[in-house]
Amino acid sequence: MDRNKVCTDIKEQILQLLKVIIEQNYFQDNNQYFKPEKGIAMGSHTSGTLAEIYLQLIEERYIKHWIEKQNIVYYKRYVDDIFIICDTSRINEETIKDNMNSIDDHLEFKITEDTNNSINYLDMTINRSRDGMEISIYRKPTSTNITIQHTSNHPQDHKDAAYRYYINRMITLPSTERARIQEWKYILSTAQYNGFPMHKIIDMERKEIAKNRDKRSKTNETQEKQVQKKWVTFTYDSPIIRKVTNLFNNTEVRIVFKATNTLYQQLAEKTQNKNPSGIYEVKCNTCNKKYVGQSGRPITIRHKENIRYIRSNNTTSAYAAHILNNRHEYGTAENTLKLIHPCRKGQKMNNWENLYIQMYRQQDQLITEQQVNEPNLLYELTQPPQNIDDSTHPDTTPTGTAQVYTHR
Ligand SMILES: [Zn+2]
Repeated sequence: MDRNKVCTDIKEQILQLLKVIIEQNYFQDNNQYFKPEKGIAMGSHTSGTLAEIYLQLIEERYIKHWIEKQNIVYYKRYVDDIFIICDTSRINEETIKDNMNSIDDHLEFKITEDTNNSINYLDMTINRSRDGMEISIYRKPTSTNITIQHTSNHPQDHKDAAYRYYINRMITLPSTERARIQEWKYILSTAQYNGFPMHKIIDMERKEIAKNRDKRSKTNETQEKQVQKKWVTFTYDSPIIRKVTNLFNNTEVRIVFKATNTLYQQLAEKTQNKNPSGIYEVKCNTCNKKYVGQSGRPITIRHKENIRYIRSNNTTSAYAAHILNNRHEYGTAENTLKLIHPCRKGQKMNNWENLYIQMYRQQDQLITEQQVNEPNLLYELTQPPQNIDDSTHPDTTPTGTAQVYTHR
């Protein structure tokens, strides 16, 4: 096959796919759907790349000639932040701004000029001096000196992360010695403020300096090996979890911890989902036995379907079969339908469903029409927090997880 032909085919396919992705730009808020008139979707994997391609095109067409003519002496862009040093005897900032703003109606460039020979760019303050440029670390006026408290019940890695980042930046930024010392003072006082022992931070600095030295001498080969490792997330409730994660120490599995006790998680208002999906039970009004099922859609919709089966004499669903074959009575959703465990569709949902079916069967609460899998021995170790027949289940809040108690 002609090689060029393949290339144009692939190009066309890529463009076609991109078109689909770009036009699939909509979002939901408060049960309403919105479609933006322009722009690319926030959070889409393609958005960053597309924006970058477009900006590079702009640079090629409208900015490159200034750089070539030395009107712009220095030009660097990080995503949407541009740092420009221009020769004011050849061009002024107004001309640059006006020209850039005439490129595209939807793009607006704002200019920040230096004040007192100083300007902030990204997380740096750049000072113009007689000898050249001096770089120091810039902190937004809104930045605080609060990190996770050293005594907080969080994985040590998470608590150290902020300091490892500060220290690394201090080491790698080509700042002046004065700025470096000032930053080190800031790091130490912040650490102290948040309850970190000083020796820990000093030790961390020593290690980070060594690591940086190693990184530079490391071959690409060893870095490639690291990429192949598999990352697995564990929830960090207490340091005891390390008893489990340490088992993976000499394997290719890398462990990361997820904390579920941040202030945000504790205080943020839980979004009330009035129609949750998950594992549900439907009760028979005559014999009080139950059917346990799963639904990826709101369970009330699934319930309506069951009722429809019964009314149309269709015994496809086990619940409908039970009602119809025994001439038992079914009830309203309010009286007979209950969410046992909210969750989303997927393997986890299948597992929860099997667990509850087995539980209900063991307690003889299940209608005989319901098919039951081979009992899972692992599930026998678990017990519902209370009698399942209780009208209140502690785990019926949409964000709750089932508590599993083990036999002693
Ligand atoms: Zn019944």
